[in-house]
Amino acid sequence: MPTVYDVIVIGAGFAGAATAYHLSRLGAFRILILEREAEPGRHASGKNAALLRQAVNDPQVGAMVQETLRALESPPEDWERKNIFRCTGSVLLGENRVLSGFAGLLQKLGAAFELRGRHDFPENLDAEFREELRAADYEALLFTPGDGVVDVAALLANYLDAARSRGATLRCGAEVRGLSRETEAWRVSTGAGEFRARLVVNAAGAWAGGLGVAAGLPDRGFEHFRRHLFLAAPAAPKLDRPYLWDTAHEFYFRPDSQGLLLCAGDEEAHPAREPAVDPRVETRLFEKLRAYFPALASPEIRRAWACLRSFLPGSPFLIEAEVGAPGFLWVAGLGGHGMGSSFGAGRSAAERAAAFLNRQAP
Ligand SMILES: Cc1cc2nc3c(=O)[nH]c(=O)nc-3n(C[C@H](O)[C@H](O)[C@H](O)COP(=O)(O)OP(=O)(O)OC[C@H]3O[C@@H](n4cnc5c(N)ncnc54)[C@H](O)[C@@H]3O)c2cc1C
Repeated sequence: MPTVYDVIVIGAGFAGAATAYHLSRLGAFRILILEREAEPGRHASGKNAALLRQAVNDPQVGAMVQETLRALESPPEDWERKNIFRCTGSVLLGENRVLSGFAGLLQKLGAAFELRGRHDFPENLDAEFREELRAADYEALLFTPGDGVVDVAALLANYLDAARSRGATLRCGAEVRGLSRETEAWRVSTGAGEFRARLVVNAAGAWAGGLGVAAGLPDRGFEHFRRHLFLAAPAAPKLDRPYLWDTAHEFYFRPDSQGLLLCAGDEEAHPAREPAVDPRVETRLFEKLRAYFPALASPEIRRAWACLRSFLPGSPFLIEAEVGAPGFLWVAGLGGHGMGSSFGAGRSAAERAAAFLNRQAP
């Protein structure tokens, strides 16, 4: 007989880890987290740019980012690692129309911001940054002082460790290969054995759609886009400087303890598998910097990597039960803000999971 759990969470990225974390706070549920890789965070959740950005396109996602921000600023008791957020502020450049839209959302969320015209700089920006901005190509500037950079490895570990401290089990090297619904439970087959649970949480990132189909569910039509990040090495990284995101020409950069992290804003459709680095993207990054932010014309790139952002077209995130498949919960399609929104996304998913489990309770 396979081992029986209340919940099996598939995937130990931010979606799965934050869901397991909140669920472990909501009740004494027997939780098993299955992760295919040898350790958590090998994909988007460990390779992202670590930016917490409050100005997003969707109000629900915006509210979830606020939840994460509050948790980072006043860490819950059960987090082992407390000081994991560097509040640097952010500077978004772009069209007045677009940035005004973001400002409207920030206002509704109660977040501080300054919307400025070209060459009208917020006080917090140092003289050198102002000089660099003078040479940049943009119409308006949105400064969000509460934004910043997260220690993503520590945040992921906080979620997982706190869940484990309340009895959840994390099994790495356990790839889910089959999912089938039995009378009262799901049977989950992995390379490391078979397990059963009343509820399955599909938090498998780019692989979530394929797992749904393997379980006999309709294809949800997720789309995946490859994005590269580059690490350059300037003379002295200025860690307290705001990160800069040009929303019109889509590129961003931020100081990093090892130099400067840059992104060309590339988004190329890609199948759900680990992407290779395409050297042409570095050329595209340099072209954008030369044209729109010449102060950074040719950074010396030391390292490049790529990973996938997954979206469900027409919907910000997919956090919902599968109609017609009792006990199957999606937490997928977290797109480009899945780390920053993780606390709120995990809470929302866990509340749905707990409601289902409590309804089913004998
Ligand atoms: C280049 C880039 C930069 C980004 N920058 C930011 C940023 O600055 N700020 C921000 O908020 N967000 C950012 N994001 C988005 C963020 O990283 C993602 O939204 C988030 O990490 C998605 O988490 P996830 O748990 O859904 O997916 P993943 O991190 O991919 O986790 C899914 C996990 O499921 C596991 N898995 C898959 N299949 C199986 C299986 N069959 N059995 C068992 N386990 C399985 C995988 O191994 C993986 O560990 C960025 C994304 C990219 C690509």
